[in-house]
Amino acid sequence: LDASSENLSPIERDIEKVLRPQEFDDFTGQEKIMENLKIFVKAAKLRGEALDHVLLHGPPGLGKTTLSYIIANEMGVNIKVTSGPVLDKPGDLAGLLTNLETGDILFIDEIHRLSPLVEEYLYSAMEDFKIDIMLESGPNARSVQISLNPFTLVGATTRSGLLTAPLRARFGINSRLAYYDAKILTTIVLRSSEILKTPITDEGAYEIARRSRGTPRIANALLRRTRDFAQIKGTGNIDTEIARYALTALNVDEHGLDEMDNKILLAIIDKFKGGPVGLKTIATAVGEDDGTIEEVYEPFLIQEGYLMRTARGREVTEAAYKHLGRIKLGQTGK
Ligand code: ADP
Repeated sequence: LDASSENLSPIERDIEKVLRPQEFDDFTGQEKIMENLKIFVKAAKLRGEALDHVLLHGPPGLGKTTLSYIIANEMGVNIKVTSGPVLDKPGDLAGLLTNLETGDILFIDEIHRLSPLVEEYLYSAMEDFKIDIMLESGPNARSVQISLNPFTLVGATTRSGLLTAPLRARFGINSRLAYYDAKILTTIVLRSSEILKTPITDEGAYEIARRSRGTPRIANALLRRTRDFAQIKGTGNIDTEIARYALTALNVDEHGLDEMDNKILLAIIDKFKGGPVGLKTIATAVGEDDGTIEEVYEPFLIQEGYLMRTARGREVTEAAYKHLGRIKLGQTGK
């Protein structure tokens, strides 16, 4: 199961939309961030100003897009959605910016993938709400400065480390979303079941929640797959038993690690004596893109205590050996 939204089918996208919270009150978890955001939104509304630019970072599926829509909704403004790789030329960005009304939100997903040219163009837009555009071309070419309506840029990134310092500095609000604990994910699973009209026990919801890599998108996806198993193999009701059955069939292990998580740990243990080993080498060994490993798999494995990032590369922990039933060979020659 994939935490990123890139590989979603159109049907899955529609379901995501249905399950997406619309208001601050529907959004569970991330308390500290939410507490602050609510205040910033209230204050901006009170002053009748656009909200400060917001940078949201964290692994895929934790609610960055959802939060952006909620902010727009709560501010009572429009939201335009685009992404770093799509904004090819400054002209594309200019088109979007000049169409924003006062207070509107421009959401740029994967903002770390903006081209340097487009990024630089964004600076004056963010800072002074002004951009330069070229009129005509050839010998008559000249640039004129035009004013934009004050707007809010919401940038989302899975790789905040790749953001340039000047871009980062232009965001007044900077929030890092964390993985959700099982209790909060249980609430999210229960809410989604209600929307999907799927009967579920609290224990069944908890079983799905605790094995969802701390990620709402995965919890919702596992819920939908479990619902299939419940309807075909069971009574339609999701309880612990059917949840366990479904999760095993979906290759989600007892600790919520999926196939790729385990593949990564196993490769480091079996091929590289537990590490340290470089990221690119791991990527080649498991046949996955190194960026995906770094932004999707690694943060969770590190948080759960299976993996460490050291100056010399990645190393698995004792917990990983134990989890995979491997024996750590003693260090010899010391
Ligand atoms: P991101 O932009 O970080 O990749 P999304 O905002 O697209 O993640 O969230 C993925 C899905 O997870 C959404 O469809 C939404 O339904 C659900 N989701 C995310 N965060 C929450 C939350 N705090 N409460 C309820 N559902 C959530």
